[in-house]
Amino acid sequence: MTVRAALAEGTGALEGSCPGSPFLDAALLLSSSMGMERDRLLASMPDEVPPGPLERYRALLSRRRSGVSVAYILGYKEFYGRRYAVDPRVLVPRPDTEILVETALALLPPAGGIPSRRVRCHDAFTGSGCVGITIAAERPDVEVSLSDASPDALAVCAANARAVLGRDLELGIGDVLSAAAWPLDLVVANPPYVSTVLTDEIEAAGGSEPRSALDGGELGLDLYPALARQAFALLAEGGALVAEIGEEQGRAVKAIFEDAGFVGVEIRADLAGADRVVSGSKHAVRR
Ligand code: GLN
Repeated sequence: MTVRAALAEGTGALEGSCPGSPFLDAALLLSSSMGMERDRLLASMPDEVPPGPLERYRALLSRRRSGVSVAYILGYKEFYGRRYAVDPRVLVPRPDTEILVETALALLPPAGGIPSRRVRCHDAFTGSGCVGITIAAERPDVEVSLSDASPDALAVCAANARAVLGRDLELGIGDVLSAAAWPLDLVVANPPYVSTVLTDEIEAAGGSEPRSALDGGELGLDLYPALARQAFALLAEGGALVAEIGEEQGRAVKAIFEDAGFVGVEIRADLAGADRVVSGSKHAVRR
């Protein structure tokens, strides 16, 4: 069977059962089965797929059809141009979360911007670590710490920090910001914000992401009040909080930030135009 025919077979097998991107998924699974980069695979349409890889490919397709995400099947996901190991202990990084990182990078003081010490940033609910590790990679001058309530997630995160940065980051175990220390210049967070009902639906449909990374309570808003209150206490004067939100949560989370004392609170949209990030400052308003 040729690469072209195998891709057509896989795309057909995934259509219907796996909404999203059946061709891309099939191409990722076939290139992994053949031990080949995806770009090279797509340039090899007339080539034959050897029997071993073809058998592996069909086994991966059937795992995908049972609802396992491509990222968990392959064991990694690209985020902000870097590769993160992922498995069912952590949420799979979403492209939408890149806007959280971009907002965080724009809110960080410049290198040397705090005269008496290094600029400090904490990533709460870090999961795979993709947000905090990206910030550490983009801004090596910043002291980045990360935390999560799940020891399993922190194990994945620690391995990712070493693989991506070639060094360890300061990791703490704890809910919300209990593992973070004053003074911080930026708090960044992608808390669980999916409603309990929707989390149940995702699980029933075969989703294997950790419930604790998705379920944000009845309206998905349970974690934001504690996040805003604790961040306000831990931030230095002029510091900022930036959090990811579900697309219908902008107004509610803005109000929660303002209740906690944040000023200049703004809602930003992701590339699809959906509200995705809320940010606010402690006193001195910065851009
Ligand atoms: N964006 C994720 C989703 O749509 C949810 C991530 C989260 O709860 N932090 O499933």
